[in-house]
Amino acid sequence: MLSQKSEQQTGSSSEFIPLAEIEAALRAAVARGESGIVDAVDMAIAQGVLHGASDIYFEPWRDGLHVRFRLDGVLHDVGVLPKENQEHLVSRIKVLARNVVYQRDLPQDGRIEAGPRTLGRSLRVSTFPTVHGENALIRILNSDAQFPDLAELGFSEGITEGVMEWTRRNQGALLLTGPSSSGKTTTIYAILRAIVGRAGRARHVVTVEDPVEYSLDGVTQAQIQPAKGFDYDAALKGILRQDPEVIMVGEVRDPSTARTAIQAGLTGHLVLSTIHSGTSAGVFCRLLDMGIEPFLVASAVSAVLAQRLLRLNCPQCIASYVPDKSLRDEFGVEQSPVAYQRGNGCPECNGIGLQGRTAIGEWLTMNDELADQIMRRDSLRALQKTAGRLCTHTLLPEGVHLVGQGRTTLEELKGAILVEEYQA
Ligand SMILES: [Zn+2]
Repeated sequence: MLSQKSEQQTGSSSEFIPLAEIEAALRAAVARGESGIVDAVDMAIAQGVLHGASDIYFEPWRDGLHVRFRLDGVLHDVGVLPKENQEHLVSRIKVLARNVVYQRDLPQDGRIEAGPRTLGRSLRVSTFPTVHGENALIRILNSDAQFPDLAELGFSEGITEGVMEWTRRNQGALLLTGPSSSGKTTTIYAILRAIVGRAGRARHVVTVEDPVEYSLDGVTQAQIQPAKGFDYDAALKGILRQDPEVIMVGEVRDPSTARTAIQAGLTGHLVLSTIHSGTSAGVFCRLLDMGIEPFLVASAVSAVLAQRLLRLNCPQCIASYVPDKSLRDEFGVEQSPVAYQRGNGCPECNGIGLQGRTAIGEWLTMNDELADQIMRRDSLRALQKTAGRLCTHTLLPEGVHLVGQGRTTLEELKGAILVEEYQA
C-alpha cells in the first residue's frame, strides 16, 4: 500500500503540458517507482484542471491503464500506462480520496478537498471494480467563482428573460429536460442563484439532490440516501412540511415524486426540476405516461426548458469548409447560402478544432391551447406541432443560427439534436 506523501506540489506537475505530450510525462514519472506514482497522479490531476477537463478517467483495459480526459463533454485519450502500475495508481487516488484502499471489489465514493495539489479545485472520486481491475473516475468540480450566471450560459435573450420572469412568480413548476451532460445542473444552479440573489425578497429555498455537488449560499440543500429510504419522494414530502417557497428536486423519475412535485407547484410553491425527455413537448407526454392526471400537468407546469450544449469553433484555427451534402440536406439549410466554418485544429485547442461550449434552448410556456391538448391526451406529434408554433425559440433553429454565424458546425449540431424529432 502506498503511503500518504507530504502535501507539497512537485513543480513540474503543475505546468501546462500539451495533451499529446502528457502520456510520455506520466510514463516517465511511473518509471521512477513509488514516488513517481504519487507524482503521476498529481500530474494527471493538474493537467486535467489546466486543460479544463470535467473528468479524468483511469480505465484498466487488457493492455494497461488508459487515462482519458473529458473535454467540453467529449472523451479524449491521453495515454496508456503500464499494466504493472495500474493498481498502485488507482490505490494512490483512493488514498487521496480517503477510500478504503484494500477494498477493491465494491464501488466507492470519495472526495479530494481543494488544495495546492488540485490547483484549488475540489474533486469527487468514484472507483468501480471491472474485469480488468479497479477503475477510478475523478470529477473536477467548479469552484464558486466559476459558476456562470443565467445570462452567461449562451441561451438566447428571450429564453433568459422567460426564465427570469418565471422566477418572479409565486407558484408553478419549471421542468428542464435534455440528455445527460446537457448542462441542466449548471442551468438549475444559475436559476437558484438568480432567485436567492434577488434583492429585497427573502425566500425559503430548499433543494433535494443526488448528489449535492456544490453548496449554494442562502439555500437549504439535502442529499438523498435511497439505501436508507430517504429517496426523492420521502425527502420532498418531508420538506413540504417545512413550508418552503422554492423547491428544487434533482430529478422527477418516478410517478410518486412527479405527483408530489407537480402538486406542490399548484399550492403556492415554485418548483424546479429535471425530467428525461427528448423535446419540450415530450415532457408533458412523459408526465401523462407516469400516470399524472392531465389537469395536474396542465395547471401546475408553467414552463419547460429543453437544452443542449454545443461545442464552439476554436477562434484560433477557424476556416471555411463545406459539410457533406447529406448533412446539409438533413438540416434543410440549402435555401440560404451559409458560410460554413470549422476549426482545423491547432495547439490552442489540442488539435480538436472546437473549444468551449454554449447552451441552446427551447422555451415552452403553458397556454390554453397546450392545456386543452394535454387534457385531451393528444399525441406527442400533435403536442410537438403546437410547441413548434408556440415556442419563441426551438433547438433546431437556434442551433442552425449558430452554424450560420460560424460559431459551430452542422456535425456538432447533429451530435446534439435528433433532427427527426423536429420533422413532425
Ligand atoms: Zn484551434
